Amino acid sequence: MHRHIPRSLRFRFFAALGGLLICAIVALAAISSSVIFPALQAEERQAVKRELDRVERSFQLEQQQLLAQVRDWAHWDDTYQFVQGDYPRYKDVNFSQEMFDDMRYQLMAFFNNAGEVYFLAGINPTTGNYQTCETPNDECAWMEPWVNRMQSAIDGDRADQSAIYADQEPVMVGSTPILRTDKSGSPAGWLFKTRALDDEWLSFMEEYTGLPINLSLTRQAASSSDALSFSGNIVHAERYLPIYSPLTPVSLGIGIELNRTSYLTSLTTFRYVLLWTAVLMILVIAVVLLLLEKIVLKPLRLLTQFTQQLDIHETDVHKLTRRSDEIGLLSRAFQKQFTFQQQLNDELLKMSTHDALTGLPNRRLFDQQLETAFSDTSTDSDSVAVMMLDIDHFKLYNDHYGHPEGDVCLQRIADAMYSLARTRNFFIARTGGEEFCALLPHISPDKARGIGEQLLAAIDGLQIPHSTSPVKPFVTISVGIAMQKDAKSQSPSAVVSCADQALYLAKEAGRHQVAFFSPQLASGLTPEHNAPQ
Ligand code: GH3
Ligand code: MG
Ligand code: MG
Repeated sequence: MHRHIPRSLRFRFFAALGGLLICAIVALAAISSSVIFPALQAEERQAVKRELDRVERSFQLEQQQLLAQVRDWAHWDDTYQFVQGDYPRYKDVNFSQEMFDDMRYQLMAFFNNAGEVYFLAGINPTTGNYQTCETPNDECAWMEPWVNRMQSAIDGDRADQSAIYADQEPVMVGSTPILRTDKSGSPAGWLFKTRALDDEWLSFMEEYTGLPINLSLTRQAASSSDALSFSGNIVHAERYLPIYSPLTPVSLGIGIELNRTSYLTSLTTFRYVLLWTAVLMILVIAVVLLLLEKIVLKPLRLLTQFTQQLDIHETDVHKLTRRSDEIGLLSRAFQKQFTFQQQLNDELLKMSTHDALTGLPNRRLFDQQLETAFSDTSTDSDSVAVMMLDIDHFKLYNDHYGHPEGDVCLQRIADAMYSLARTRNFFIARTGGEEFCALLPHISPDKARGIGEQLLAAIDGLQIPHSTSPVKPFVTISVGIAMQKDAKSQSPSAVVSCADQALYLAKEAGRHQVAFFSPQLASGLTPEHNAPQ
């Protein structure tokens, strides 16, 4: 089945621009999701990583400071002497709860060069009591797991570094061999200091870094990648640091919470930009379509109406032809063509309804006028007169003066008849070679006769010489008149036939006269005629 698909210019423009709009929006969406949004996310991850790096650096700085403090103590002759048993007052002079509190130490452990515990001092994390012991027993039993870990570090040759132990609560550990201040001789033992990574330490770090921090222990090896999780406009980021744990892999997770406001604001801004870009594109395309409609499509529709010669307002035609663009050019070309065609039509119409020699209406037009005149007469008193006029002995005129002169004669007679017809307001046509017909609507027989006589006299008045005419030495005419009511049927052709009969009788009666049709004429009686003197 043939389906009608609308393919107007408006539809084509709409389809093309609509397609373009969809492509542009799809491209925009694709670029956003594959380039811009990932870039924004990458930027956010970078920012999170930078913050984690900062926290990790602060953590490392703390470790270095602790290690430096351990070394400060361990490379001191007094300490050296103390672990060798040569300085018993060392404990009383250097250890106090205040010192532990001030330095944020949890435990200080001294080992002799055999790796055996020599002296322990610390603050019990459960009770907060400051304690000193020779062995990790009794009230110092809480120290035992740390001490064991420290001894395994000494055994494993890992006692000259900073580390994190997490046998109980995670602690930061700094350890180093005990040497003389001038570093001479062999180590007299080892010194370990621990700092609890407790709430107090966390608040210290939070103050230092300006970020909320939390710690967690994970039973897995420290990984190189950070863990990120998002909830609302908060991002939780965690970095895993290795913990000294010889048997099971454990890592310390340092977690921070960051506000995503900046990322979310960029995202919202970018979404607005996208939305407005799309809205702007739609607006631009709507405006383009509107302009197209106004500048091209509407004038084109008018031009189409104009070329189809449909009902189009004069002011619209004026607007079209006054344009200075291509549509104006086309309109003017069409207008020129239409004017030319109209002239041709007028000429053709004139040629088909007028006689070329005299310019008078021809038989065709006469017949039309006759029909109209007959249909217009309504009452009995209102009548149409038909007059038939014929040049007398025109054959003789032609024979004597020649055909061209005959033509001139015909023209002069036609002119004379036409000027009378115009002043007396009746219709005259050349209906045959030298034969004319007049049509006089709404006229009485007397007035018709009067006109017939005036026509006769007008031709006489021309005084065109006709030396071979048996009637007069100049060209004369004969006139036959019939009234509409004369014909029985009162049809146009019947009345013309009556006028023809009247003319025939005028000729018979000697020409150069007006003959009136009467019913008696029709029955062969003498015509009622009027020959001029
Ligand atoms: P009558 O008085 O009985 O009308 O005689 P007539 O000679 O006028 O009539 P007829 O019908 O015998 O001759 C008409 C002549 O008119 C014949 C023809 O040569 C001439 N005629 C007809 N048309 C034209 C024309 O266009 N130009 C010229 N020059 N002569 C024409
Ligand atoms: Mg004649
Ligand atoms: Mg004739």
